[in-house]
Amino acid sequence: MQKLLDEIIDKYKGTTAYGAVANYIPELEKTDPNQLGISVFDTEGNLFQSGDANVRFTMQSISKPVVLLLALIDNGEERVFEKVGKEPTGDPFNSIVRLETFNEHKPLNPMINAGAISVSALIKGNTPEEKVNRILDFIKKITHNDSIRINEAVYRSEDLTGHRNRSMAYFLKDFGNIEGDVDETLEVYFKQCSIEVTTKDLAYIGALLARDGKDIITNERLFPARYSHIVKSYMATCGMYDGSGEFAINVGIPAKSGVGGGIMCTVLNRMGIGVFGPALNRKGNSYAGLKVLETLSKNLHLNIY
Ligand code: GLU
Repeated sequence: MQKLLDEIIDKYKGTTAYGAVANYIPELEKTDPNQLGISVFDTEGNLFQSGDANVRFTMQSISKPVVLLLALIDNGEERVFEKVGKEPTGDPFNSIVRLETFNEHKPLNPMINAGAISVSALIKGNTPEEKVNRILDFIKKITHNDSIRINEAVYRSEDLTGHRNRSMAYFLKDFGNIEGDVDETLEVYFKQCSIEVTTKDLAYIGALLARDGKDIITNERLFPARYSHIVKSYMATCGMYDGSGEFAINVGIPAKSGVGGGIMCTVLNRMGIGVFGPALNRKGNSYAGLKVLETLSKNLHLNIY
């Protein structure tokens, strides 16, 4: 496995040049676009890493499936599904269009921004700080990494420029989808997106989902298998933005990407995979990261379809 990962990273390192780092959150533009790294954590507890595997980057949209897990733990699925639907959209992640035209007036799924913001509003806690701390504690627990923290500069940058997310959140509030204060909900959402991880942390979360909620190190059950199935189904159908169909064909595993350049993948009973390559393609997925995963999937026969 180690040899394979080294070969793949070496082969695709140069393709980072075909992508571009996200710049709509100004702070992200400072990232070195040439980085590429991977961690694989298998369900036997072996960790393999190559390239820029230990560089910290912000989770961005990869926080969505994780916060969804916590929202399910906090509220149960009935209440969560009152607020978000179960269908892919085919629209970009930050699209606002269906909020008005779709007759149920709830976001189609929790992987797009509108749905994720509704889910952030469901996290238990009396203040945004309490909610964010619960999210952080949950992520520390499932990654076995106590050093996880928020990148304050990225948070401030998104808070200052996140006008579209802000408008979506007010729209959601107007039709009763967000209970509580809109700005406080946005604080939780922007902060969860600004949580810094490495590919190792993503591989750990992926491996936990690969065991449907049973921790690999302690063997403790951290959440019901049903919640793992829900989250993985969303990852499989809409985890890679409007590139989810193509990803299903070329890689064929549940995955979630973020505009920070990370991709988190899970392969049932086999492994979790974390990839980092901040130069993105036009759909917001890591350009070189996709190449790495396509080749890894072919070599290890990971495709589940
Ligand atoms: N914080 C980002 C936003 O809401 C996350 C987007 C993403 O990673 O897709 O715009």
